[in-house]
Amino acid sequence: MGSGSNGTTLEKMPTIKFTKLFINGEFVDSVSGKTFETIDPRNGSVLAKIAEGDKNDVDLAVKAARAGFDHGPWPRLSGYERGRIMTKFADLIEQNVEELATLESLDAGKLFSWNKMFDIPGQAATLRYYAGAADKIHGDVLKMSRELQAYTLLEPIGVVGHIIPWNFPSTMFFAKVSPALAAGCTMIIKPAEQTPLTALFYAHLAKLAGIPVGVLNVVTGFGPTAGAAISSHVDIDMVSFTGSTEVGREIMKAAAMSNLKPVSLELGGKSPLIIFDDADIEMASDLALMGILFNKGEICVASSRVYVQEGIYDEFVKKLVEKAKAWVVGDPFDPQVRQGPQVDKTQFDKILSYIEHGKREGGTLLTGGKRIGNEGYYIEPTIFADVKEDMLIVKDEIFGPVMALMKFKTIEEGITRANNSKYGLAAGIVTKDLNVANTVSRSIRAGIIWINCYFAFDRDCPYGGYKMSGFGRDFGLEALHKYLQVKSVVTPIYNSPW
Ligand code: NAD
Repeated sequence: MGSGSNGTTLEKMPTIKFTKLFINGEFVDSVSGKTFETIDPRNGSVLAKIAEGDKNDVDLAVKAARAGFDHGPWPRLSGYERGRIMTKFADLIEQNVEELATLESLDAGKLFSWNKMFDIPGQAATLRYYAGAADKIHGDVLKMSRELQAYTLLEPIGVVGHIIPWNFPSTMFFAKVSPALAAGCTMIIKPAEQTPLTALFYAHLAKLAGIPVGVLNVVTGFGPTAGAAISSHVDIDMVSFTGSTEVGREIMKAAAMSNLKPVSLELGGKSPLIIFDDADIEMASDLALMGILFNKGEICVASSRVYVQEGIYDEFVKKLVEKAKAWVVGDPFDPQVRQGPQVDKTQFDKILSYIEHGKREGGTLLTGGKRIGNEGYYIEPTIFADVKEDMLIVKDEIFGPVMALMKFKTIEEGITRANNSKYGLAAGIVTKDLNVANTVSRSIRAGIIWINCYFAFDRDCPYGGYKMSGFGRDFGLEALHKYLQVKSVVTPIYNSPW
């Protein structure tokens, strides 16, 4: 296994400038004065102490967002004007790519080269995509069955609470914030406690761009305190959540028990990749490996269940294992490295315990299975074969570089087994046969299907789950519509009493 050095290759540690809550246009300490530490997963060292918000801080942020929505300019500006300010926000991201990419790598262990080339510039592009939609929001004129005329208005839903995870801190931030801003909403964002750094930097840029006071508030802190205060707040009109299925359930309960606010839930996954006998083995093995190792497996759509048709199974396994052994794990600032450290010790321990479980359950470890080095949270790319659908490593979302590899015979068997999961987030199909691709893509219950590709993301493409992977969509114009309400306006055509 080609494991890169765990030592830093970062020449200059950036100064961490933003560590406080961002409420009503200002960086402030938490009401309690408490802070928490955010760590560098390369070695466990403390990067910064961050203000720890809780219910009292969420109350202040909601007050600001409520005032911003009920009386402030943002929902009342023309869509064009909102779009113009969002475009300025996008420009500022582009001017700060290097620093943002560095913070993201330090906080989350994500590859610096990826952040710099794609992830951070991609956020500017997402903002621009929705900025362009902000002045194209309109309802319909309705053809009524009686002598009435009617039309619909699309209005912003109000104050939104966004609760996001740590695996793609910037992507998640802008997947939520950009359409909500375009719609004219005001908001409170709670980043994951593991990765608060870039969210606070974005708050600073939002202010510089001219986003009015109270529109965008960032409350850093923990789930059961700050997060729960958002989902149960009676003055928040909607909650948009991305995270685990377990927490999604809590959010939905809290929303129901408070003010019945609508929720959008982007939850976990255990996505199948189905490789058919006619597949190009070189390409299929690349896709399978990238599907589980990209972002160290900390990605909700990871292809963690790989089904290979029996005719090519042995040859495929040989190629896959060869490539996994050559995969370079190490410091995320090293350009040779393809996989950095897991986000924190909790996640690292969880993955290693699933690996132990897989061994005990009788899975055959083809490669990997151990930590790398004795500093930081690095784990070997790990592939289990001879596994069955009722094993924990096949049923549970591990959220790490651990693949479960299985063999199947017929198309029908492939479909049935791929659907045999409580999750339904994504699926991949590798085949040259168009009929097989079409049949399987229509038969799999998942929100996105990739044919002869994997992780082919685009901000145009709606993204979300079936089954216990949640409901509601991020990205595409679907995401804009979840932050809008439909209002019908009806008048009689003649001045007759109705
Ligand atoms: P998590 O559910 O533990 O936490 C997500 C967020 O919820 C964090 O900000 C956390 O502080 C907050 N939270 C925790 N408990 C809460 C509570 N009781 N009330 C309100 N908020 C609470 O998830 P995670 O470990 O940060 O992220 C990993 C999970 O996210 C995985 O299951 C992954 O599949 C999922 N995910 C899904 C998508 C998607 O688009 N479907 C994308 C990325 C990650």
